[in-house]
Amino acid sequence: MKARRVTEITVQTDEAFIIRRRAGSVQVCCAHCGSGVPMVTPEEAAALFRVGVRAIYREIEAGQLHFQETPGGSVVVCLDSLQKIVGLLSRNSGSQT
Ligand SMILES: [Zn+2]
Repeated sequence: MKARRVTEITVQTDEAFIIRRRAGSVQVCCAHCGSGVPMVTPEEAAALFRVGVRAIYREIEAGQLHFQETPGGSVVVCLDSLQKIVGLLSRNSGSQT
């Protein structure tokens, strides 16, 4: 078995972003979509869509985002559901920096 394993997640927004993860990070797929959609941490999601992390959590709490808890206890969100509300997110985050 090879020791090195890197997961690449590409998200098509206005630019292409690639998240490179080190071996050992958990690759979780969305159970709601059921189609192998990768899930990312709220921090990664915020960086990808250029919104605040708080905005991500707000949408999780509002039930707008599919999310799951990893075995390690952290939360990951579904990229597919994120992309569906990304316009809403940037409108709500308000600050243009
Ligand atoms: Zn989903």
